[in-house]
Amino acid sequence: MNQPLITILIPCYNEEESLLPMYDALCAVCGNAQTDKANATADKAIATTDSPASAQEYNFEFLLINDGSTDRTLEIMRELRATDERVCYIDLSRNFGKERAMLAGFDYARGDAMIIMDADLQDPPTLIPDMLRVWNRGEVQDVYAKRRTRGRESWIRKALTMLYYKILDHSTEFNVLQNVGDFRLLDRQAINALCRLRETDRYTKGLYCFIGFTKREILFDRQDRLAGESKWGLWKLFNLAIEGITSYTTAPLRICTYIGIITAFIAFLQAVFYLIKALLYGDPVAGFPTLITTMLFLGGVQLIGLGIIGEYLARVFNEVKNRPIYLVKEYNGQRVDANHHS
Ligand code: UDP
Ligand code: MG
Repeated sequence: MNQPLITILIPCYNEEESLLPMYDALCAVCGNAQTDKANATADKAIATTDSPASAQEYNFEFLLINDGSTDRTLEIMRELRATDERVCYIDLSRNFGKERAMLAGFDYARGDAMIIMDADLQDPPTLIPDMLRVWNRGEVQDVYAKRRTRGRESWIRKALTMLYYKILDHSTEFNVLQNVGDFRLLDRQAINALCRLRETDRYTKGLYCFIGFTKREILFDRQDRLAGESKWGLWKLFNLAIEGITSYTTAPLRICTYIGIITAFIAFLQAVFYLIKALLYGDPVAGFPTLITTMLFLGGVQLIGLGIIGEYLARVFNEVKNRPIYLVKEYNGQRVDANHHS
């Protein structure tokens, strides 16, 4: 029986401390490169009985994306590649951000299925065999890992994330999955579908939902980061949230329209009220405070409306330029010129 190739996709940005432990953890699950090849026959008996369940049934490719790291990440990738030919790496020409780095991975993945993981061991590699079992050679196209717990995070961050998912879910036409990150297994069919979604402002979490296909969930406990710091401050997350909303739904524009209609209606009632009051009681001018607050309020509402329109316009502007989404400098030590892929 031919063994399917599984690509493990790992976007890395300044992960020099995590990469080697990550690699070791992967080897513990997927089998060890050197011994597998050298003592292939001798090991087989032992390997099938105990250790890596998946090692015998599947071939693996570890696709590491260097997203413009400024530390030794790339060197470590090169060293790994030199000792283990399952390791492939892509060196992007600068830091493009995780979303775009992942698209590079989708394009270069050769596997029949792909598992996306973070480099910091927050996504436990021990879940790989379970994912492979659920995937069952293409029966399910998207096996996503849902977090039972979110690891060490502040309550405000948790609360905001909750609120955000609620808003997103209610305003899109497809289901948005909560507490699901990029940690998942995608079948070749799903990978090809994702490769066709080539927008510049990427919000991949929504794209997985957009493409549909058969999905199945597995639960896991999210670990704390092994080393270094999360690159997502609260502010960056907030911006990602805006990104998510504006790239999946035009509901905010609709809300602006509603607010406009409501305020206009209130203003009309108010006008009638003051007119009648003036006619009946001959009331003098209503006064400065009401005037200024109404004006400021309306000014504010208008600015928010403009901001929201601007947000969508900016999106159109970015897409219309049609620039390559990422640029690759090197793939497995070979120079890549900009005319393929991207
Ligand atoms: N990452 C990346 N480019 C970036 C930022 C992050 O490729 O510009 C990678 C990072 O190396 C890690 C993954 O994306 O493998 C998740 O990043 P992080 O752990 O900072 O995010 P969190 O786990 O807090 O969501
Ligand atoms: Mg992380």
